Amino acid sequence: MPELPEVKTIQDQLNKIMPLTISSFSKSNVSGSIIHTKMDKLKGKVILNVSRKGKMLDFIFNDGRHLLCHLGMSGGWRISKEKVLEKHTHLQFKTKNKNAEIYLAYVDPRRFGHMYLYNEKDASRKLSELGHDLLSDKFTFEYFKKSLLKYPNRFLKVTLLDQSLFAGTGNYIANEICARAKVRPDRKVDTLKSLEIKKIYKAIFDVINPATKTGGTTFAGGYADTSGDKGSGVVHLVVFYQKICQMCKKSEVKKIILAQRGTYYCPKCQK
Ligand SMILES: [Zn+2]
Repeated sequence: MPELPEVKTIQDQLNKIMPLTISSFSKSNVSGSIIHTKMDKLKGKVILNVSRKGKMLDFIFNDGRHLLCHLGMSGGWRISKEKVLEKHTHLQFKTKNKNAEIYLAYVDPRRFGHMYLYNEKDASRKLSELGHDLLSDKFTFEYFKKSLLKYPNRFLKVTLLDQSLFAGTGNYIANEICARAKVRPDRKVDTLKSLEIKKIYKAIFDVINPATKTGGTTFAGGYADTSGDKGSGVVHLVVFYQKICQMCKKSEVKKIILAQRGTYYCPKCQK
């Protein structure tokens, strides 16, 4: 599933081709489960740039509207000089950037993605359901600690996945944060010591900064960037999808299920 580094990679690539003027667009006949609002009066409109909060992409139009797009499990955007014929293309814009023709296509094999074309007010209401983005200046240690301690009885990893607190986390990021902070993912929040909370906050950046620089991380059938490239971030993982812990290089990684999600940790390195 695309998490913050992957979504940011897509956002950065999209912004390189902006602004785009829409000439026409087409939808697949099963796009109704992804696109939840009417897509009207788009011809001639300009996509100025693409903003982002957590895993939500925000295409900003020159008429004040916003196309919010969550990639779900397997969604992605393709940029192409020719019409995109890839299977599972559910929305495609034919556009112009100056005089160059560019096709912008949303591809989503599993169709868990979501899109909403909203006016300014509805878009900001939707985005306000999300907590601060992990890369935003507002994501301070004070904010992190207060948000974490909001639910003292929750498992650490479950709270880390809560998008209303920490926008941009996902399963691999949450696993890796716990590993680098040397804290087990199934610790209850109220057992965490002050120093551990500091380490968890620091670990967030240790995980997302390198992954963002290498263009995101991919797992079986999951994510591709706008050119269909898979990203190389997988080399940074220390426990997620690993047999042997890449911190101690000795212990076997243990896999448990926490809140229905595969959860990985090193029994030797993490307390
Ligand atoms: Zn270890």
